[in-house]
Amino acid sequence: MIRVMIPTPLRQYVGNKESVVVEGRTVHDVLQQLASMNQQLSRQLFDEKGQLRNFVNVYVNEEDVRYLQREATPLKDGDTIYIVPSIAGGSSDIASFSYEDVQRYSRHLILPEVGLEGQRKLKEAKVLVVGAGGLGSPLLLYLAAAGVGTIGIVDFDMVDFSNLQRQIVHTEKDVGRKKTDSAAEKIRMINSSVKVVKYEERLTSENALSIIKDYDIVIDGTDNFPTRYLVNDACVLLGKPNVYGSIFRFEGQVSVFDARKGPCYRCLYESPPPPGLVPSCAEGGVLGVLPGIIGTIQAMEAIKLILNEGEPLIGRLLLFDAMKMRFRELKLRKNPECPVCGEHPTITHLIDYEEFCGLGRGNDYADEITVSELKKRLDAGEPLVLIDVREPQEWEINRIEGARLIPLGDLPSRVNELSTADEIVVYCKVGGRSAYAARFLRDLGFRKVKNLKGGIVEWVEKIDPTMMRY
Ligand code: ZN
Repeated sequence: MIRVMIPTPLRQYVGNKESVVVEGRTVHDVLQQLASMNQQLSRQLFDEKGQLRNFVNVYVNEEDVRYLQREATPLKDGDTIYIVPSIAGGSSDIASFSYEDVQRYSRHLILPEVGLEGQRKLKEAKVLVVGAGGLGSPLLLYLAAAGVGTIGIVDFDMVDFSNLQRQIVHTEKDVGRKKTDSAAEKIRMINSSVKVVKYEERLTSENALSIIKDYDIVIDGTDNFPTRYLVNDACVLLGKPNVYGSIFRFEGQVSVFDARKGPCYRCLYESPPPPGLVPSCAEGGVLGVLPGIIGTIQAMEAIKLILNEGEPLIGRLLLFDAMKMRFRELKLRKNPECPVCGEHPTITHLIDYEEFCGLGRGNDYADEITVSELKKRLDAGEPLVLIDVREPQEWEINRIEGARLIPLGDLPSRVNELSTADEIVVYCKVGGRSAYAARFLRDLGFRKVKNLKGGIVEWVEKIDPTMMRY
């Protein structure tokens, strides 16, 4: 038995079937049998002299018969034949696909939802991936493998050893390289026909519109609130779909925000939490596989949007809990009061997102202390009370000598252990949670609280490189 895969334009001649099963010992036998099924089909395949038309390509198990024994190519039971005609003037022009392309994408080409037409859409698609980190890694690899023609990567970061636990697009030899360079190289290794555009810069209110405007779809693989709001607002202003994903510890969220058809990120979260309240992955941790799962779902949503197939996650928020291995789905509604996509938007151009997220030039800087200043004052024997607000498992890895551990969550109930008369320095891993702790204490009337800028990470880097780092 030989299965013959019928291309979309010829299916009308075989009862709209995607494939037919026939018997035959050579390609010639099979084609003759096909021709005998329908006169029209026969005319599509053969010219007046009974020769196979030269715009009809025939593949046996993904091998072009022109490189085998042409129509005399022998067949065995279980073989699959693909008929790939070029369609003159049509949009699904096989001529734009090379022999390698047909081989590479054969598993796509036989899907009716993709086919030549869909593969051409993928080839012409331009997708911008913001962040070449945990979410960006599977995204970039799968988009490249699937044949997305142009992939933009925005990232200003370097590959760090601590990235390798989840950012699978980078390898040990890439540590210290620019993430954009490392990711672009892997994409080339997977699919050299993909055009990669690198943006080795932070996405800002100044450059976001000019970068995003050239793309069909934006995928948000960022790890911080300012960039997330920036990506959202820029996509709303430009009318682009924004494939959103976020991860924390063992949980993830995915949605597709397209303000033309549904809600945006601000309809869901109008404003960000105060800085430090929601720890970043660097501070809160993230299980290595999780970004793989969430990023892969984002890649799938992007591909569905390109193909215009299936039901996108527009108006739905998919929640994933890895520990319970459970997906849940919430309905999202467009907020008519949304400041950016609502009926009377108040945000009509990009704003200062650092400031919007409370990270900007507030008066907080005056209440910070640098690691070198802290070191100097500790060495001078000043009576500073040093509070570590990280978790016990982080305290186990490293700590600044003389510090006391009060995890952020315990601070409200243990605040009586502190005296407002003392000068207090709080620190965490990189300074986010401790900024929150400092603000919390100040609100309670502690006047002399300082936040250690850059946290223990900066302390290890600049003061004591012999300490364990994480
Ligand atoms: Zn909105």
